[in-house]
Amino acid sequence: MNTRSLFLQHVAQTSPAPIGLHITEAKGCYLHDADGRKYIDLIGGISVCNIGHSHPEVIAAIKEQADKYLHVMVYGEVIQSPQVQYAKMITDHLPANLNCVYFTNSGAEATEGAIKLARRITGKTDIVAANKSYHGATLGALSVMGDEYWRNAFRPLMPGVWHHNYNSDAFINAINEKTACVIIETIQAEAGVIKPHIEWLKRLRGKCNETGAVLIFDEIQCGFGRTGKLWGFEHFNVIPDIILLGKALGGGMPLGAFISSHENMWQLTDNPVLGHITTFGGHPVSCAAGMAAMQVLLEEGIVNEVAAKEQLFKEILVHPAIKSINSAGLLMAVELENSEKVLSTLSKCLEKGLFSDWFLFAPHCIRIAPPLNISKEEIATAADILKACL
Ligand code: PLP
Repeated sequence: MNTRSLFLQHVAQTSPAPIGLHITEAKGCYLHDADGRKYIDLIGGISVCNIGHSHPEVIAAIKEQADKYLHVMVYGEVIQSPQVQYAKMITDHLPANLNCVYFTNSGAEATEGAIKLARRITGKTDIVAANKSYHGATLGALSVMGDEYWRNAFRPLMPGVWHHNYNSDAFINAINEKTACVIIETIQAEAGVIKPHIEWLKRLRGKCNETGAVLIFDEIQCGFGRTGKLWGFEHFNVIPDIILLGKALGGGMPLGAFISSHENMWQLTDNPVLGHITTFGGHPVSCAAGMAAMQVLLEEGIVNEVAAKEQLFKEILVHPAIKSINSAGLLMAVELENSEKVLSTLSKCLEKGLFSDWFLFAPHCIRIAPPLNISKEEIATAADILKACL
C-alpha cells in the first residue's frame, strides 16, 4: 500500500475529501510535497506559523531544550525555565490584570480551563456566547460554539449557554446576574473575519462590569500579530478578564494558554486543590519554541508590516468574481459567489502551486492567512495565481 492509502486507512478521517498533499518539508512560506512540488502557503497551518514554517531560531530553541529535558512532571509542580520565562515574556506584553498564565496543550483546553475558572470566580454557571464563533471541539468548547449544525449531533451539551449574534443588542441584553462569563473571539475568524463594533465591545465590557460576569476574549486565532497588532483587543482598547491563546503561541509546537490575574488564578488551587490538571500542558519544548517565535515576531518588527501587506493583497485582488474582502490584517476572507466556486478555485490554485482553504462558517470565502513575514513578491505571486484561478 502506498502512503496515501495508509493515510486513508489508518489515520482517522474527519472529511470525506481531505486535501491529501503528502508534505515532506515546510520552510518559510512554502510547503513541499512528495511529488517534488512546491506551494505558497496562504494558510500558515490555520494561523499557527506566523513567522513562517521551521524558522531557524525556533528549530534551534527546540533542539537546545530537547538536549536538556523533555517531559519531567505534570503541570505546575516543578520549576521549568522555558515555562517561567515564556509566561514572563507574554505577560510583559499584556495589560497588568493579565499577569498569570496557565499553559495547556491546545486552544480547546484553554477554553475549557477558562470556563472552569469563570465558574469558580463567580460561583455562577451561565454563559453568553456568539453565533458563528469557534472555541474548540471538546464538549465544553463545543457547547459555546456558535453553530447548531456542528453542535447538534453531540447533545446533550453543557446547559445554560445562550447564543446571540455578535455585534447585536440581544447579545448584551442576555448578560445578567446569572452569567458566569461571556466568551467571544475578539475578531471572529471562522465567521469570515468579522470585527466587533468598537461601541458594542465597550458596552459589552460595561455590562460585564455591572453584572459581575467574567469577560473572556479568545485570541487563539487573532493573537500574535495576525491582525496588525500584537493582540486583537489593542484595536479596540477593551481589556478582558481572561484571554485565550493558542495556535501561534507554540511557534509550530502544540501549546495553548488561558491568562488572567494572579488573584483569579488562585481559585484553581483550593477546594478542590488541583482545580485544573494537565500532564503535558506547557511542555518545555513547546514553551521554548513559542518563546523563540515570539522573540522573532517582536525583534524583526513583523507585526508593523502586516497592515501594508493586507493593503497590497487588497490592491491586487480586484476581480469581477470577488464580491468582497473582509480583513483584519493578514486574516482575510475573500468572498466569492458560493461555496462551489470556492472549492473549484481552491483546487485550481493547488494545481498552480497555491495552498489555501475556506472558513468553517463562511464556506463561500477563501482564506488568506499566510505567515506574517510573507514577502511583497510572494504576495504578488500568490494574488496573481488566485486571480488567474478565478
Ligand atoms: N479558538 C479559536 C478562535 C480557534 O480558531 C480555534 C481553532 O481553530 C480554537 C479556539 C481551538 O484550538 P485547538 O484546535 O488548538 O483546540
